[in-house]
Amino acid sequence: MADVLTPEQRRYCMSRIRGRDTGPEMIVRRIAHGLGYRYRLHDRRLPGTPDLVFKSRRKIIFVHGCYWHMHDCPAGRVAPATRAEFWRTKREGNVERDRRSMAALKKDGWKVLVIWECETRDEKKITGRLRSFLK
Ligand SMILES: [Zn+2]
Repeated sequence: MADVLTPEQRRYCMSRIRGRDTGPEMIVRRIAHGLGYRYRLHDRRLPGTPDLVFKSRRKIIFVHGCYWHMHDCPAGRVAPATRAEFWRTKREGNVERDRRSMAALKKDGWKVLVIWECETRDEKKITGRLRSFLK
């Protein structure tokens, strides 16, 4: 297993730090928009500040970066070479926060879909998932 970030992962991490309009999220937004749905972005009033909020349908989509949210995939299992403990604590904090946000949203009657960064490479598949989730 790799113990350092690939350039691609590093770029992705930096883009997450810089702003919210990241590649994977833009892909999901574009597809949802193309299917004719309207949504609110990054609603801070809701637990976890969901990326896409479809208010009238009471549905929510999170687009998670594999590294920061510890997806069970090669990108999510990367362990940083330096300050490993610091980053592990930070990432585990994200996962715990995700878990709590998801529970709170579901309790309030929201349907929640999580799309992982690595899944956005297959746009056709994502389109199918969005279509069945949002209808
Ligand atoms: Zn992944």
